[in-house]
Amino acid sequence: MIISVTMNPSVDISYPLENFKLDTVNRVTNTTKTAGGKGLNVARVLQQAGANVLASGMIGGHLGEFIQSELENNKISHDFFTINGQTRNCIAILHEGKQTEILEKGPIISESEEERFLSYFAHLITQADILSFSGSLPAGLPEDYYEKMISLCNKQHKPVVLDSSGTSLQKVLASKAKPLLIKPNIEELAALLGKSIENDSESLKHVLTNPLFNGVEWIVVSMGADGAFVKHFNTFYQVTIPQIDVTNPVGSGDATVAGLTQALEMQQSDEEILKHGNVLGMLNAQEKRTGHVNMQNYSALIKRVQVKEV
Ligand code: ATP
Repeated sequence: MIISVTMNPSVDISYPLENFKLDTVNRVTNTTKTAGGKGLNVARVLQQAGANVLASGMIGGHLGEFIQSELENNKISHDFFTINGQTRNCIAILHEGKQTEILEKGPIISESEEERFLSYFAHLITQADILSFSGSLPAGLPEDYYEKMISLCNKQHKPVVLDSSGTSLQKVLASKAKPLLIKPNIEELAALLGKSIENDSESLKHVLTNPLFNGVEWIVVSMGADGAFVKHFNTFYQVTIPQIDVTNPVGSGDATVAGLTQALEMQQSDEEILKHGNVLGMLNAQEKRTGHVNMQNYSALIKRVQVKEV
């Protein structure tokens, strides 16, 4: 089983408006409210791709209950740790071809919850073959919390795919706790190294051999329509993808994480792992809804993805 962890999920609200008027009333007719957060996208895509997935993380309040019932509607198993605070709303106002977002910071986790989650988590992971952790940490948790969670997984020999950015990722990389795979995009990679990154293979090879990444078996740098550049142990791969009609690429990184994790769980070859991850990313980009894939288009796309050792 794959456990997909979202530490700071949200209810994502979308308000489409023809014109967004400031300082007055805006009425919305087509509101959508969905279970949001990167790890929940991963869980949805895994379920659609036929994997055995369990969604986990921290939730609280009536929005936490909403997320659980949404997962049940989608037939996704879940096992969340309940906190006292309220799970957050994230609002996207879609207007005049633009997107204005209002993102709540979310609950503040208490010290007691911080400790109790780790005991709960150590028990939960006994069921997993592999885990994925996606997104940011909620307020109140220390920045090295992913490191603590990965240490627990390492102790039980449970591999972790980590898709986070900023300080929480930096803390993990600087620690002894090692994820099996990380999936930064180019901007996240640049932020991590504090410099701009050229996306030619010689520069990327140089960047990915930085000692910062020592001990991380797989680094998958996703590059949107340009596919991906990958380091697995000391082998480098360039993944080239065909040009496709894109509807909404938001969440393609999460779909890629889902695909990589599923193929890793199935102990597939390097080529299969990378093709599966990229195809799920592309399938997400072809859908309107974030974190959705139409598997009917899978076989046509996978034939057109190339993985070349460079
Ligand atoms: P997000 O944060 O929105 O989840 P990301 O920046 O983490 O995305 P991307 O690199 O944009 O991740 O996308 C992941 C993968 O999805 C790419 O490697 C590619 O295979 C596929 N993909 C994304 N955007 C496109 C696109 N415009 N055309 C074709 N494939 C795409």
